[in-house]
Amino acid sequence: MSIVLEATGLTKEFKGFVAVKDVNLRVEEGTIHALIGPNGAGKTTCFNLLTKFLQPTRGKIVFEGRDITRMEPADIAKLGMVRSFQISAVFPDLTVLQNVRVALQRRRGESFDFWRSEKSLSQYDDLARGYVDEVGLSEFLHHRAAELSYGRKRALEIAATLALEPQMLLLDEPMAGMAQQDVERISALIRRVAKDRTILMVEHNLSVVADLSDKITVLARGEILAEGDYAAVSKAPEVIEAYIGA
Ligand code: ADP
Repeated sequence: MSIVLEATGLTKEFKGFVAVKDVNLRVEEGTIHALIGPNGAGKTTCFNLLTKFLQPTRGKIVFEGRDITRMEPADIAKLGMVRSFQISAVFPDLTVLQNVRVALQRRRGESFDFWRSEKSLSQYDDLARGYVDEVGLSEFLHHRAAELSYGRKRALEIAATLALEPQMLLLDEPMAGMAQQDVERISALIRRVAKDRTILMVEHNLSVVADLSDKITVLARGEILAEGDYAAVSKAPEVIEAYIGA
């Protein structure tokens, strides 16, 4: 299986404090890969490094064979690696359909213009409806984003992310703050989205991680403790100790 994203020797120091230390990570094409670990393990820092919201102190990041270590997040998005919260500013006063259209316009490099006529925007409608369908929001097509439940807003966020046509999606705690029924809905959605895309996610909800992930990387104190499927990593004594000790 081919490697989509590979980090080698990834290290981040904050004024001498090593938050991420010599991390080697390989994400395989078509998998759901989870990054887990106790609080302070370095997950967020690692995620920010991979998505280039932070610059690594040392190390190299390669996406689809291209060295992206020095690239900007916007340029990485154009290559097909998109972080979900990059567009989490869902426009509350726009409808579901309009929100997805905006993402499509961005994908095509058009500047966003609220005042364009509905007619000139409607060229995007079929495509936009497809993404809205994919995330299960068809019945809310003409609802304003502000009227949606929290879980549905996240689904809309994912639809707008999909409209950027990513090959790889990075999800930062997709289940944070969600009620159980939304957790189930978003889990099903992630599984569906993953059919023809690669996903890397940081997630605290371990039953979601167990349910969705093909591969799990466990971080603690900035280093990789264990890697493998859920059955393997959840039995590893060093992982159990790291969680208990946290
Ligand atoms: P996690 O997401 O696993 O909870 P983080 O990546 O947020 O862990 O943090 C890892 C460690 O790095 C923590 O000890 C945190 O205090 C430290 N850290 C994170 N960001 C900064 C920063 N900007 N400046 C200094 N220390 C930081």
